[in-house]
Amino acid sequence: MRNALTVDVEDWAQSTLDRSLPISGRFVRSTVALLDLFARHRVRATFFVLGKAAEAFPEIVPLIAAAGHEVASHGYGHEPVWNLTPADFADDLRRARAVIEPLAGRPLVGYRAPDFSIGLRNLWALDILRAEGFRYDSSIYPIRNPRYGVPGAPLEPYEAVDGLVEFPLAAVTLVGTRWPVAGGGYLRLVPYAITRWALRRINAEGRPAVVYLHPYEIDATELGELPYRISLKLRVTQSLNRHRTRARLDALLRDFQLAPMREVLGL
Ligand SMILES: [Zn+2]
Repeated sequence: MRNALTVDVEDWAQSTLDRSLPISGRFVRSTVALLDLFARHRVRATFFVLGKAAEAFPEIVPLIAAAGHEVASHGYGHEPVWNLTPADFADDLRRARAVIEPLAGRPLVGYRAPDFSIGLRNLWALDILRAEGFRYDSSIYPIRNPRYGVPGAPLEPYEAVDGLVEFPLAAVTLVGTRWPVAGGGYLRLVPYAITRWALRRINAEGRPAVVYLHPYEIDATELGELPYRISLKLRVTQSLNRHRTRARLDALLRDFQLAPMREVLGL
């Protein structure tokens, strides 16, 4: 079974610490390292590119596209959708498309929201995505989490609104609770043997899984080198095990069949 391999291309400080910060070129270096790693494994992925990052370092988008990967949209400014009005959300999507699409050379059909910020409070966002020409979304985490998630949402891809498929982030049910797996922080914090077990279980249940990560997750020294005040909590949660991510990813790319999201969905 093919699973979707996805990367949210953004700069850590701007996307996580303060959205008004300038975009640093560190993400370019890490994205190039991921491209090299994927090429070694002959694996292609979907890169959800942040418009603001593409605007600051446009050269990265043609590099991604030339390697045969799918380029998709992560919006423009990394403002969570629950902070936006419907009109502002549509503006953010258009601004990102205007920057990214000419660089990618192909229409963008996929979208992922910052911080998985589409949920029960703002399902109107799915109608806007469809109206803006997107064919799939991958923003809904079918789990219970203090910040995000739709606990009862389907675990497998489904048509969320007419003409728009939702590809939910991977979750596995264990003792009656849904647990997130194979993404970003979960990939860093959880031992690889558990991630592998969970992905195999999802596949055994007949569902493709979504693996997601950010370029900064292989940048082990970033938080020690940034010139910003960063709280201890953020340092721990955002930086722990970054030095282990590359090896884990190596194992994951060896153990599982992975492909761009659009191809897994057959769109
Ligand atoms: Zn993001």
